[in-house]
Amino acid sequence: MTGTYPTDEYCIFCRIIARNAPAKLRYESEHVVAFDDHRPKAPTHVLICPKGHYPTFMETPDEVLAQLEAEIKIVAERLGVGERGFRMVVNNGRESGQLVFHLHYHLLAGTVMGF
Ligand code: AMP
Ligand code: ZN
Repeated sequence: MTGTYPTDEYCIFCRIIARNAPAKLRYESEHVVAFDDHRPKAPTHVLICPKGHYPTFMETPDEVLAQLEAEIKIVAERLGVGERGFRMVVNNGRESGQLVFHLHYHLLAGTVMGF
């Protein structure tokens, strides 16, 4: 992976990554950012994204997914939920309910979750 990545000027997550839109950042590295979901569905609800603009999980290169998943472990540790447990959710495509078409993993934690 290189330091350059695709972006979309109309994408809200690209705008957050470029610091052109506000967000509570929880983690940042060369390839990945994590920030609070602005409508949290759990006490901890963080969105973890590649910096590159890939609209869906299916369109994301395998090496980007591998890097992202490795860093999700780091984010979980930093948030203090690595041991206690957390849920990861990825919506992929229209019928999944995906609203923002920049790949993101939801990390939900801080309460006992039913299915
Ligand atoms: P999804 O259905 O997986 O595309 O979910 C998109 C998520 O992004 C939702 O949980 C929204 O609350 C969240 N979201 C949308 N815009 C923003 C924003 N500007 N800052 C933080 N979270 C956002
Ligand atoms: Zn984007």
